[in-house]
Amino acid sequence: MRPLADMPRDEAARIDALLFDLDDTVLTHGRLSRGAYDAICDLAAAGLTLVAVTGRPAGWGELVARQWPVEGVVAENGAVLLYRQGEGITRKLRHEGPMLDAARRRLEHVVALVKHAVPEIELADDNAARLTDVTFDVGERHKLPPDRVAKARATILAAGARAMLSSVHLHASFEGDDKASGAFRMMLWRKALDPAAARIRCAYVGDSENDAACFAAFATTVGVANIAPWVHRLSMPPRYVTQGAMGAGFAELASKLLAGRARHA
Ligand SMILES: [Mg+2]
Repeated sequence: MRPLADMPRDEAARIDALLFDLDDTVLTHGRLSRGAYDAICDLAAAGLTLVAVTGRPAGWGELVARQWPVEGVVAENGAVLLYRQGEGITRKLRHEGPMLDAARRRLEHVVALVKHAVPEIELADDNAARLTDVTFDVGERHKLPPDRVAKARATILAAGARAMLSSVHLHASFEGDDKASGAFRMMLWRKALDPAAARIRCAYVGDSENDAACFAAFATTVGVANIAPWVHRLSMPPRYVTQGAMGAGFAELASKLLAGRARHA
């Protein structure tokens, strides 16, 4: 990873969409700071397309899509897309109805297996707002040691589900999407950008393991400073890293992109 300050002006100037993770990237320990929200508003006012790309539930994503100046939200690690249409919200999933119900029943079985393997594990407190996955709390209200997280993850995989890890959560899902495939679908539907164009014109900023798919997929990728302890576990690190952590790092990136556009104009 190189310091964000090393990003060439030309690279900053060609970015016209910023895709961002929420927890520990825009949000600082779960809170939205004034500095981070000001940065979002400044980017929107400058004409950048903004998309939140999060492991958080569809129900949370709907709130962000309704209230923030964003094009849309990719929620549940790519499985659910949400965007405003008029005064309403459009929600896109791969499956709805009976197939979704069947997946939920299979996830209940996965929960039973994980609880048997790791009895002290707790479910996250946001599962009621989820549609496609089930999520365990490994670092938000309950801290689970890495070896126990590894055991829970292995149990999820052995059950035939996918496992995704963020700084706070371990997710289990039968969906095939990840943050990158969800982000590409969003840019195609909302901005008519095919993945090749999106790869060059979007920047992605995140902080943890479930962001690695986007770090691999997009050309301009940034980690906020708190990514450092995780970076050896990423299949692909971001190209740049901010000096500031979490929301402060996000605001630093926003300033860099806005300066790039100002020089380009
Ligand atoms: Mg995060």
